[in-house]
Amino acid sequence: MYNLEEKKVIEAIKERKARRVLLQFPDGLRTYAFKLARKIEELTNAKTIISADPCYGACDLALEELKLVNGDLLIHYGHAKIPKISEEKTLFIEAHIKLNVKPAILKAAEMFKHEEKIGLLTTIQHLNSLIKAKNVLEGLGKKIYIGKAGGKTVYKGQVLGCDFTAAKSIVDKVEGFIVISGGSFHGLGVQLATGRKTVIADPFLNEARNLNELAESTIKKRWIQISKFSECKNIGVLVSLKSNQLNLELAEKIKKEVEKKGRKAVLICVREITPENLDSFIDIEAFVNTGCPRIPIEDQSKFKKPILNPEEALISLGVIPWENYGKTILKLKENI
Ligand code: SF4
Repeated sequence: MYNLEEKKVIEAIKERKARRVLLQFPDGLRTYAFKLARKIEELTNAKTIISADPCYGACDLALEELKLVNGDLLIHYGHAKIPKISEEKTLFIEAHIKLNVKPAILKAAEMFKHEEKIGLLTTIQHLNSLIKAKNVLEGLGKKIYIGKAGGKTVYKGQVLGCDFTAAKSIVDKVEGFIVISGGSFHGLGVQLATGRKTVIADPFLNEARNLNELAESTIKKRWIQISKFSECKNIGVLVSLKSNQLNLELAEKIKKEVEKKGRKAVLICVREITPENLDSFIDIEAFVNTGCPRIPIEDQSKFKKPILNPEEALISLGVIPWENYGKTILKLKENI
């Protein structure tokens, strides 16, 4: 189902004369880990070790672990590289999926009966379907725009849960977006960041989902947490220790903004932001997460206390207006 580029992996290991390779997979690809590790050991002189720690993006490369196990090469599956990351010790295998995108795209097009200009976006797994999807939509008479790469993305039309450059670069030209994706999180981010109608074309389920209701209910839920946060006196500002999420400067700025309002804040560094890791800080009433923005949006219900993104914290503190919700994610440093 996935293109795991076995030939490329074997050749890279041989070329680099790697002796020990660390394999890193997101959950959805772990079913292939055992077979791949065995195959690499059979066809090369390298020994393999599989990382079982959670991994949600190229923001979390297991390079420290590679050092600890004395490895030569990290093979990171399931995500595209992030610009500026050194590839000296890392091979990225994007794992594009082999699925027919047409049925889902046709259903998404049904939801854009009255619009002509559509922005087309995709997560990395479906990048290989982008042109086919564009052709299908153009065949229906739509004018399709594919936005540029930038920020943390390397491909035109690619979106991450924390980078909507491709959407923002064409927002003034389009009436809405179709996002090729399995889940709804990336599309939700597109809708919040652009304010445009956004529809998911899901090739796993062969269905299309208009995200309007989800966006509205998310905004309501986030508003409740933002309001609760405004009554909290002791704040923990979380600094993610994942390699490309770490943003100490932003965390320090948020701490300063909290203190300017007469409240108290501490910085807390953490690898996994889970209720188990945060619940025992009894006197901290709320948290600001400067790492992956998915956690407050999708996992809030698992936490006992408000956990806000930096943008939400600044809204709660009155530094930026509520009307900007979702639109300042990438510009936070400049906004403070
Ligand atoms: S959305 Fe989260 S997991 Fe995905 S790349 Fe951004 S920080 Fe990493």
